[in-house]
Amino acid sequence: MKRILTIVAVIATATMANAQSIYYQDKTNCDMKRHTLRDDVLRKEFVLPEVNGYKVLKADLHSHTIYSDGSVTPEYRVREAWVDGLDVLAITEHVEYRPTEGRMLTYLKGYFSNAMKPVNNSVIGKAADENGILVDLNVSNNLAISAAAGYGITIIPGMEITRKPETIGHYNALFVKDANTIYDADPVASIKKAREQGAIIMHNHPGWRRKSLEMTDFEKQVYSEGLIDGVEIMNGSEFYPTVVRRAMENKLFMAANTDIHGTTSMDYTNQGHWRNMTFILAKDASLKSVREALDKKRTLAYSFGTLAGDEKLVKEFFLACVKFETFRIDKNGKRTMRMVNNTSMDFVINFGGNPVQLRAFTSRNVSVAKGNSLNFTVENLWIPTEQKHPSFELEF
Ligand SMILES: [Zn+2]
Ligand SMILES: [Zn+2]
Repeated sequence: MKRILTIVAVIATATMANAQSIYYQDKTNCDMKRHTLRDDVLRKEFVLPEVNGYKVLKADLHSHTIYSDGSVTPEYRVREAWVDGLDVLAITEHVEYRPTEGRMLTYLKGYFSNAMKPVNNSVIGKAADENGILVDLNVSNNLAISAAAGYGITIIPGMEITRKPETIGHYNALFVKDANTIYDADPVASIKKAREQGAIIMHNHPGWRRKSLEMTDFEKQVYSEGLIDGVEIMNGSEFYPTVVRRAMENKLFMAANTDIHGTTSMDYTNQGHWRNMTFILAKDASLKSVREALDKKRTLAYSFGTLAGDEKLVKEFFLACVKFETFRIDKNGKRTMRMVNNTSMDFVINFGGNPVQLRAFTSRNVSVAKGNSLNFTVENLWIPTEQKHPSFELEF
């Protein structure tokens, strides 16, 4: 035992010696480096199995930073996404609404107009004197891309085309190449400009500030012209079940995104929820594979415990998550099954009016009489049929 303690002491001394060069220490405070904030950030993993041979990537296709009307930097957004277990993040600043710029200009103008003249060789002074104040809408995406390289997160460069929600709505351009050439006073032209540079278009929060989900003339136009590739059926705390059918009819990928402006810890994780996620079934997490999966509409939408999407895919997803194993057959032929859920998803399984919770990383037993199949619906899964929830009939 003594020997082990000696070894521990040696390791501890070595660690402290290492720390000494960074932090002030003395005899009364020898372990200041007992907690390292930057290096020890923990990631929560949302565990899901492969489905149909594809990895299920956890994505958020809608987020804001201080470069439009969000409260945090792109670098923070990336770190937050990593902590929350995401594989893919889109940064989607409003093209037309960027209040932080106004505040920064007010700040800069004050600096230049007061008696304290800017120091000639200061970076801000020099840049502003020589070039004026220039705005580059690609900066936010680029900062996120460089930050993400250190975390292994895939960034989709995006922008949100932001017009009147009552009549036109908001549209995320994803996979943009140059955010500076998307703006056009005519929103249809703006969407087309984004598409011309290879972007795909997601219709955001279709029910936000609307009295009904009936499509407006503008929406009918852009949908019928084939300018829309995906739609949010979940945004923040909103869920639009009827839009699941709309997505199927128009062959759109379905998304669940946070549209986060503040922090996900405030809006989701500190309240015990996972953040909204668009599950993308892709070969790998490369930008190319993510794009291929979105083009092929291989997505599911997850928000506050509810998962929605195409009926076939929802069912395949469930059967990949929950395994049914027979572990006993009694003398009357009654079969006892174990439902094993080795994922981070909770499921509510209803056996003929008797719903049971199958929580993440738990198992439950269920009995089936001889010759019977196991029939149930899963109530936190939504599909675009009258029945709303998928039903299963498992034969043995
Ligand atoms: Zn929006
Ligand atoms: Zn937004």
